Amino acid sequence: MIRYKTDDEIQLIRESALILGKAHGEVAKRIKPGVTTKELDQVAEEFIRDHGGTPSFKNYHGFPASLCISVNETVVHGFPGTYELKETDIVSVDCGVKFKGFHSDSAYTYPLEKVNRDVLDLLDRTYESLHIGIAQAKAGNRMGDVSFAIQNHVEQFGYGVVRELVGHGVGKDLHEDPEVPNYGKRGKGVKLEAGMVFAIEPMINLGTKSVVQEKDGWTIRTSDRKPSAHFEHTVAILKDKTEVLTTHEYIELNYSYKWRNKSR
Ligand code: MG
Ligand code: MG
Repeated sequence: MIRYKTDDEIQLIRESALILGKAHGEVAKRIKPGVTTKELDQVAEEFIRDHGGTPSFKNYHGFPASLCISVNETVVHGFPGTYELKETDIVSVDCGVKFKGFHSDSAYTYPLEKVNRDVLDLLDRTYESLHIGIAQAKAGNRMGDVSFAIQNHVEQFGYGVVRELVGHGVGKDLHEDPEVPNYGKRGKGVKLEAGMVFAIEPMINLGTKSVVQEKDGWTIRTSDRKPSAHFEHTVAILKDKTEVLTTHEYIELNYSYKWRNKSR
């Protein structure tokens, strides 16, 4: 069942998303070789709590941290821990904030400074696919228009679109209806209408689309152990426009390596 949001509820998600965007910015300042993923998690949790929010992921079905940190072949749901980032890594940082009863959710994949060109291309094109999907997320379209646009953009490069994990409605619960697949057919799926708020989150693999779950019950990695990229925004369908509620602005401001479009 899709829960349509009132303007007041969307305003609360907007406020939640601003805390989230700034928390991402604090993490961005610290993405460097040698930093442990646990340190990044602590920075995000402290920032969120200091600004009146709570980390959506912490204790969600038993998830132990405030961030999902997924390095290289890990697609999503990686645990922060003692792992130290290396200059050849890519690292996906996924975060959610609950504020005054409403969640927001967004993710960004960082390349460190010695990532191969083919992997930088994967990141650039996955980032592009998120925005190409968002452009189709408007009142009157169908979810399949969003899904198709993402799939169509990335498959031309031979990338694998993960099937097992999808975007989702966002609101009082972190994961609500409808599902937002990153693959699909134009003109199919639920009709997009004012009041819908959902997360669009392409998870795109350099190699095969096939993924496996690690024995910890959470971590998802690619079957062929090639890298995977993940970018996410929470968007609201309004009567006359679509608003991207979350922001990567503070990430782009604070991350020292200006990597986008560097690869091509
Ligand atoms: Mg997320
Ligand atoms: Mg999500």
